[in-house]
Amino acid sequence: MSGVMNVEEIFAKNVFTLGKMKERLPKDAFKEVKQVMDHGGELSMETANVVAKAMKDWAVENGATHYTHWFQPLTGITAEKHDAFVAHPDEMGKMITEFSGKELIKGEPDASSFPSGGLRATFEARGYTAWDITSPAFLKEAATGAILCIPTAFCSYTGEALDKKTPLLRSMEAVSKQALRIVKLFGNTEATKVVASVGPEQEYFLIDEKYYKQRTDLMFAGRTLFGAPAPKGQEMEDHYFGVIRERVGAFMKDLNEELWKLGVTAKTQHNEVAPAQHELAPIYETANIAVDHNQLVMETMKRVAVHHGMRCLLHEKPYAGVNGSGKHNNWSITTDNGVNLLDPGDTPNENIQFLLVLACIMKAVDTHADLLRQSAADVGNDHRLGANEAPPAIISIFLGEQLEDVVTQLIETGNATSFKEGGKLETGVSTLPDLDKDATDRNRTSPFAFTGNKFEFRMVGSADSIAGPNTILNAIVAEAFCEAADKLEKAKDFNTAVHDLIKEYMTKHQRIIFNGNGYADDWVTEAEKRGLPNIKSMVEAASTLTTKKAVSLFEQFGIYTKAELESREEIIYETYAKTINIEALTMIDMAGKQIIPAVVKYTKALADTINAVKAAGGDASVQTELLKTVSKKLAAMQKALVKLEKTEAKARAMEDVKKQAFFYKDSVKSVMDELREPADELEMIVDKEIWPIPTYGELMFEV
Ligand code: ADP
Ligand code: MG
Repeated sequence: MSGVMNVEEIFAKNVFTLGKMKERLPKDAFKEVKQVMDHGGELSMETANVVAKAMKDWAVENGATHYTHWFQPLTGITAEKHDAFVAHPDEMGKMITEFSGKELIKGEPDASSFPSGGLRATFEARGYTAWDITSPAFLKEAATGAILCIPTAFCSYTGEALDKKTPLLRSMEAVSKQALRIVKLFGNTEATKVVASVGPEQEYFLIDEKYYKQRTDLMFAGRTLFGAPAPKGQEMEDHYFGVIRERVGAFMKDLNEELWKLGVTAKTQHNEVAPAQHELAPIYETANIAVDHNQLVMETMKRVAVHHGMRCLLHEKPYAGVNGSGKHNNWSITTDNGVNLLDPGDTPNENIQFLLVLACIMKAVDTHADLLRQSAADVGNDHRLGANEAPPAIISIFLGEQLEDVVTQLIETGNATSFKEGGKLETGVSTLPDLDKDATDRNRTSPFAFTGNKFEFRMVGSADSIAGPNTILNAIVAEAFCEAADKLEKAKDFNTAVHDLIKEYMTKHQRIIFNGNGYADDWVTEAEKRGLPNIKSMVEAASTLTTKKAVSLFEQFGIYTKAELESREEIIYETYAKTINIEALTMIDMAGKQIIPAVVKYTKALADTINAVKAAGGDASVQTELLKTVSKKLAAMQKALVKLEKTEAKARAMEDVKKQAFFYKDSVKSVMDELREPADELEMIVDKEIWPIPTYGELMFEV
């Protein structure tokens, strides 16, 4: 890659941007595209043909040989099937590349191998992909050559969503429609839509490829299943924001370049808390584009790492004993005439609108805490949530001292008349002074924190798609806005009605506010007293999707049908069972073929030594003690191994997928722990030369 990098020149080089469309499309076609992009609807086939040709010409000029409908099935990652731009050659053998509007707009991947949770069986065997015109097409440059990627939604013939994108787009429409009703009430009649914006902060680990390849647990499960702690962990706090090592710096440089070319606004980079852990945050953008871009970020991280002789681990908990990785999902909603509904604002009118929005969000989060929790559930995240490195599994809102004080005043007196830390406030009379952003962001233990002009949902797992969390956020807030608008639109005296509604919602839902230390044990007890749900695992969270409350929410706003929800619940159980099954089998394999044989070898070496020392008339008592200890732990390992084999076989034979998932969680996982414990103890004793797999020290400190 080039030595000098000019960000302005390379940014979005591989994206078929609006600007490029403007240049390459006839005026009318461009106008139609822009109209559909901004306000929905369908492109005429005539225009689709024109766009397809322009897009193909641009792609081919830039080296593309194939195109693909790029989609996001329920696996949580992206899928693509490449089609070359080739057609029948003419009589003379000349090839004229083709790409029609129909091919641009709609694809029919053979989708029978994607998870569907029974949806396709009930409805239609095949799925189709449909162009999401609001997310730009781009060229992916990889070893395959350049591929034109068209972001799409993936549905069944009857329109059931088979992906994560479709419900997200539906939720964005829902929150836009309901938020518009709210801003209209406050006199904003110019806004034509409200856009959900998202900025995800992506954490990841890097590891030397040579060690990665010696660890089947990392290769199959993405995390270490064995491993004693290194003498040094993160206790010195010397990694966080530390100087970036040369090799990692070179990786980051290439990563940024690749991302900028893809139009991803990679902005900040730094070392994270654990050794070899890092973070990248882009500038926020429209939710669906942020979701697409986060997928590209994760994929590009993995690809670029390989070029640098490393691997990128996105798992939420690659190593026991040090912090794992998450993804802070920053979320806000803004009108198309530039008003951020989460910005307290500087006029009395904006202040009251902000307080109403805040009251609605309190109501939404309190009412649907279970759904929000579920949206951050994935197999890896079970290791983090509630484990003193990530927010607890209990959903609460952090407002910061200043704002909490305002809320308390509103609840107690129906009016906020003073403002902590100097400022003066009188809603409806004076204005809410700028909230001190520092004051709002001190608490890092809250799962859902107000940070000045956005909420930061901090529970999301590092490997997870952010489509789910944002779908839920949009949906629950849309519902609260809708209820508020229903009431306020009918009110005779708007000012009194809005005032009363803010007070009512804040009073009813104040239990969701918590500004204290979310890691403290007290909070668990306190939250229970308040009646807040504490859902500890992914499998326990799954059924929140199909409660009456959830089904009615999602059906009311056309985000998920009941069948779609049921299919998703089933896929969660399946995914969980399959993942733990892979982990268990990997442990069985490593214990049986690598660790136990190595320890056996070590006991033989010890026994030989003991005999030799004794024969020479020396004192072999230390070696004898050592042999006893090692043999005892070896026996424990062998016993646990046999038990794991049996338990895993039992789990695999189970037919009810929900019961099976719970069995993996409650039984298989605990036997996995039983196997790991003596193995990790043995690692601390056995000769390093004999130990068959790289140690935590090598994995984390030799990057
Ligand atoms: P940190 O949480 O590490 O202190 P910041 O809060 O400054 O970092 O920013 C984190 C992310 O929040 C970035 O991706 C940023 O673009 C995004 N962000 C900032 N403002 C908004 C907003 N109004 N809506 C959504 N995301 C935002
Ligand atoms: Mg953050």
